[in-house]
Amino acid sequence: MTSTSSSTFEVTPELFSPVLYRMTPLAVERGEGCYLWDVNGRRYLDFTSGIGVTNTGHCHPRVVAAAQAQVARLIHGQQNIVWHEPLMRLARELLPVMPGDIDTFFFSNSGAEAVEASIKLARAATGRPNIIAFERSFHGRTIGTMSLTSSKTVYRAGYEPLMAGVFFAPYAYCFRCPVAVRSEGRYGFDHCCLYPLEKLEWMLHAETAPEETAAMIIEPVLGEGGYVVPPVEFMRGLREICDRHGILLIVDEVQSGIGRTGKFWAVEHFGIVPDIVVMAKGLASGFPLSGIAASRELMAGWAPATHGGTYGGNAVACAAAVATVQLMKEGLVAHAAEMGEHLITRLRDLQADFPTMADVRGLGLMVGTEFMRDGVPAGDIVKNLVADSLDHGLMLLTCGSDNNVVRWIPPLVVTREQLDEAVEIFAGALDRHTG
Ligand code: PLP
Repeated sequence: MTSTSSSTFEVTPELFSPVLYRMTPLAVERGEGCYLWDVNGRRYLDFTSGIGVTNTGHCHPRVVAAAQAQVARLIHGQQNIVWHEPLMRLARELLPVMPGDIDTFFFSNSGAEAVEASIKLARAATGRPNIIAFERSFHGRTIGTMSLTSSKTVYRAGYEPLMAGVFFAPYAYCFRCPVAVRSEGRYGFDHCCLYPLEKLEWMLHAETAPEETAAMIIEPVLGEGGYVVPPVEFMRGLREICDRHGILLIVDEVQSGIGRTGKFWAVEHFGIVPDIVVMAKGLASGFPLSGIAASRELMAGWAPATHGGTYGGNAVACAAAVATVQLMKEGLVAHAAEMGEHLITRLRDLQADFPTMADVRGLGLMVGTEFMRDGVPAGDIVKNLVADSLDHGLMLLTCGSDNNVVRWIPPLVVTREQLDEAVEIFAGALDRHTG
């Protein structure tokens, strides 16, 4: 096996399971703001944010200070055993930004763990077994969350049988709506034919009865599945169907939350209030922390000791989260909205010269550029573009069931100049690979 020597550490891949897919070969030494430095001293513009985690940028001084102070005071205040101050402060910081009457929290470590918690709460509180998830969604890699995931077969293949009681409804992905593509012979739609809602009604009529259905779980902006923004009428339709049948609406804001879309929660863009919010990734700027939130009334249906976890609500992670949420409130959310508009404008300008860049879409700094060639998803182009951009110092990720979407997910502290620099690098890659 190969190993890379460097001034600071030796990379020995053979010591690690091959199960982890690595998107770059980079060995990094440090990060600051939107930049990462590798062990050879080369600087990269990090537009991956560690898959949507470092929303405050790498090692934001306020997050670093909060964590350092907490490490010296208390690291592990196990939440089954004691209360600790950062936990209290975090709940109080989050309270004013929660949608509707959501006022009660449960904290855990990873996104998948929080999704699992939301499903357990929904089943416990309603006494109903089934869950409706949406096509192309990604909710995690545990057995339960894999069962709710359908963005790619690779996440499920070889692991069946999965959790029973999961039904998949179509996500409103208008740009490549199968109904419209079939009837009009082209892609590129920007309005909803409402077929996904009709299918949902049919599912409740014929597949999972409302009285058997505990919850629907949806990403308000599809992440791994392609950075798809659903139309407002679809999201409002979901809320109405849930209300009509006493079904809970869970929003998985693991990737879209904590300011990423230019609002604190992506669901706010649709003018609806969910029953359960799932959060993780950006919550603690890189410390492992996740959680769910719901109304006190709903949480009352979750009996003591029926769920928990050793590390959830870790004191250092909570201290980092308090600093993170404060930074969001002090202007980062608004900054994300403004920078997102600039990024979308710049990328749309490029579209005129590069027609394979078929769609530019997004909310705030959760932006996707979808590539199509002759009506077919062009994953090969995207692969080349991302590799070329990395060669030129820009780190980007892909997404989409066909791997044909470039995801633009820089830290929310990104400046206009850094966005321009990234778009210039990408334009060069487009020239070399699609020109
Ligand atoms: N939900 C969404 C929307 C995600 O994007 C992810 C991870 O990418 C998860 C859940 C799972 O989070 P984790 O990897 O922290 O378990």
